[in-house]
Amino acid sequence: MEISKEILKEMNRLRETGLSNMCAENSLFEIAKLTIEINRLKKEKNAVICAHVYQRPEIIAGVGDFSGDSYKLAKDAVNVKADKIIFCGVHFMAETAKILNPEKKVYIPDTEAGCSLSESISAADIKKLKKMHPGAPVATYINTSAKTKAESDVVVTSANAEKILTRLFEKHKKVIFVPDRYMGINLAKKLNKKIGKDIILWEGKCIVHEKFNAKLIREEKKRISGLLALAHSECPAEIIKEVDFMGGTGDMMRYIEKTQAAAYMLITECAMGEVAKMRFPSKNFVSMCRLCPYMKTITLEKVLETLRNPKKEQEVNVEEAVAVKAKKAIEKMFELAE
Ligand code: SF4
Repeated sequence: MEISKEILKEMNRLRETGLSNMCAENSLFEIAKLTIEINRLKKEKNAVICAHVYQRPEIIAGVGDFSGDSYKLAKDAVNVKADKIIFCGVHFMAETAKILNPEKKVYIPDTEAGCSLSESISAADIKKLKKMHPGAPVATYINTSAKTKAESDVVVTSANAEKILTRLFEKHKKVIFVPDRYMGINLAKKLNKKIGKDIILWEGKCIVHEKFNAKLIREEKKRISGLLALAHSECPAEIIKEVDFMGGTGDMMRYIEKTQAAAYMLITECAMGEVAKMRFPSKNFVSMCRLCPYMKTITLEKVLETLRNPKKEQEVNVEEAVAVKAKKAIEKMFELAE
């Protein structure tokens, strides 16, 4: 079969991103056919693609205009110059992009891309917590719906939660942190705060980060001398105890960049390891990851279909009154995190 010059050129571009280390030559050919069409349609429709770091690597490397963790994507969304945003991530992230870009059309390629943390709490739950703890500010993890954010005082991400909570504790004795219980426990430990007294937590959990195995981490560290283990701050405390570094995905990337280790074990969603391998091809990575079923619902084929023929239900909208209040909580994050 003869391969066109255009596809060969695209395959070379994809190889340069490091994607070829992860897939066979025939998959690269199939990916190239899709990325050519997606990138052409992006221009034609004046659209940009935001891709979370847990997305499939071919989406991040092949068609993503903006890529990163929730905080970076929220910041990037402020500066988007396009008519449309195709958000490759989960629903709450697309909502955040819409809140920050009310005049743009925002689409999610798969409406099933939810999040266990986001679904664990509602706006009504926040109202109840505020009644139970009057005067305590509510710091809400970004992995929540727009309605939940709207009832909160400030939004936080894994990259800035510690900094923002520190600032809140300068003025308040008690802070409500929702919904990620494990992240709350890790923060309470770092900030030396008593759970239930100084910091009020919720029972939300990330189905990806709650299931890692501390014994396996210990065994791998024994097996590979010089192995550095990094865990996402959504992991339980017994995992955090075993690792050399805890943080959000952006913090983990920076840590890898700054250090030299025999190997790295990334205890988080699998795509993070794949992106790290592409970014640091000379470093070694040991596998210890889990797939997020929500993040992985999005494929290049679905991105292409959304660009070609967006369906009504794929368009992400946020009620104006909710968006105004949620935006205030997001902007408070930008203010306190800088
Ligand atoms: S990895 Fe966890 S927190 Fe992130 S989208 Fe998936 S379920 Fe939600």
